[in-house]
Amino acid sequence: MFDVIIAGCGPTGAMLAAELRLHDVRVLVLEKETEPASFVRIVSLHIRSLELMAMRGLLNRTLQHGRQRPAGGFFAAIPKPAPKSLDSAYAYLLGIPQPVIEHLLREHAIELGAQVRRGCAVAGFEQDDEGVTVELADGEQLRSRYLVGCDGGRSTVRKLLGVGFPGEPSRTETLMGEMEVGVPQEEIAAKVTEIRETHQRFWLRPFGEGVYSVVVPAAGVSDRAEPPTLEDFKQQLRTTAGTDFGVHSPRWMSRFGDATRLAERYRVGRVLLAGDAAHIHPPIGGQGLNLGVQDAFNLGWKLAAQIRGWAPETLLDTYQAERHPVAEDVLDNTRAQMELLSTEPGPQAVRRLLTELMDFDEVNRYLIEKITAIGIRYDFGEGPGLLGRRLRDIDLERGHLYGLLHRGRGLLLDRTERLTVGGWSDRVDYLADPTAELDVPCVLLRPDGHVAWIGDDQQDLDDHLSRWFGMPAN
Ligand SMILES: Cc1cc2nc3c(=O)[nH]c(=O)nc-3n(C[C@H](O)[C@H](O)[C@H](O)COP(=O)(O)OP(=O)(O)OC[C@H]3O[C@@H](n4cnc5c(N)ncnc54)[C@H](O)[C@@H]3O)c2cc1C
Repeated sequence: MFDVIIAGCGPTGAMLAAELRLHDVRVLVLEKETEPASFVRIVSLHIRSLELMAMRGLLNRTLQHGRQRPAGGFFAAIPKPAPKSLDSAYAYLLGIPQPVIEHLLREHAIELGAQVRRGCAVAGFEQDDEGVTVELADGEQLRSRYLVGCDGGRSTVRKLLGVGFPGEPSRTETLMGEMEVGVPQEEIAAKVTEIRETHQRFWLRPFGEGVYSVVVPAAGVSDRAEPPTLEDFKQQLRTTAGTDFGVHSPRWMSRFGDATRLAERYRVGRVLLAGDAAHIHPPIGGQGLNLGVQDAFNLGWKLAAQIRGWAPETLLDTYQAERHPVAEDVLDNTRAQMELLSTEPGPQAVRRLLTELMDFDEVNRYLIEKITAIGIRYDFGEGPGLLGRRLRDIDLERGHLYGLLHRGRGLLLDRTERLTVGGWSDRVDYLADPTAELDVPCVLLRPDGHVAWIGDDQQDLDDHLSRWFGMPAN
């Protein structure tokens, strides 16, 4: 008997397993593939995900394997630099191969005690009042108290659950890959500038060590069911740019569509969905993995609280209440970005207008905070602007805030030195620091770093501790 079985050991499943292990939850991750994926897609980790890594002590490890780049230029690939002084200690983007970030998260989960079984596909399940019986493809049955489907866009768990996945099917296909080129960089740069005046779904960008990232429309490419070939890339480059730039020696090649769908529900009884299993959208802006990992970060401590027995009655349902609207917003921003890549005169005119508008600092900042997920504010009711938002990694008398969050517990940061977490001290840490870089007296942080309360009154604090962390221990 496990507490939680997770279907799928992609980035979302691995992050969720680690978060649950911080609270000693017995976790089994079932992964259908026998080996980790070998394709080397570079993904972008945006600011909020870098903050999560810092909050769990994983950032230094992660930075060693990635390449830091400026945070700007991501919305619809409109090349505007990020505004100065973004509200984060980690205001950059990290390009990192997806298998590497998956490996780091998986190793972190295993170090914390999660069990991962490869070559095990979830094929069925049944839930009752006490738990879920999970059936594997080979007929083996396992039992757990909860099941979470982190099994990607074609999620078996979501389908078996009968949860609707409304949205739009794919209309436009794009080829994407990394390869070497056979012509000088200056020649490429001039051609790219010329073509991109009319073709926004075309890109040839140096990625270092002679390798270029290539993006080109896939229209007309042979068999959609087969992985694209180098010849497909050459043919499409010739059609779009009049030359194939002598591309050769591909590192990886893939094709993606713009299907956009969102699960109607994230929870049915003891079964939940997270990551691509709950939402799919085109990769423009590089948000999918970030969104899934952040789902896991939101869900982990809540599900752990439910299992440990101290969760307030409605806590687990705040997962859907908070994360569904975030995914809706990401889906919408990718729809908007895809429109802005169209070669039609209308969308091109909107793109030019938006490019001008982004010269206004507030517009640029708004879009960057959206893509990087640092602008998210959960609805915790009426209150000061910081309520419901995540708190940046502020300086403290001794060290930094995120250094205190590695264990995934709540934290009361008290500048008044008068308050106490009393009977919640088994779940919530306390730090008195009159020097903390805050313009409010005290903040109560949830384990995911979002501000759950602001104030200086002990009774009001106790009410909020109950709201988020249940009844105090005796
Ligand atoms: C071209 C391209 C570029 C992208 N670039 C970015 C980017 O820059 N930034 C970004 O944030 N995102 C990017 N993404 C999106 C990102 O890759 C996905 O959003 C991310 O992989 C989702 O993670 P996940 O763990 O939810 O699902 P997945 O990565 O799909 O993992 C699901 C796992 O579940 C396993 N599984 C499936 N079925 C079962 C089953 N029945 N039982 C057990 N296991 C099962 C699968 O084998 C897999 O390991 C990109 C996507 C594409 C296509």
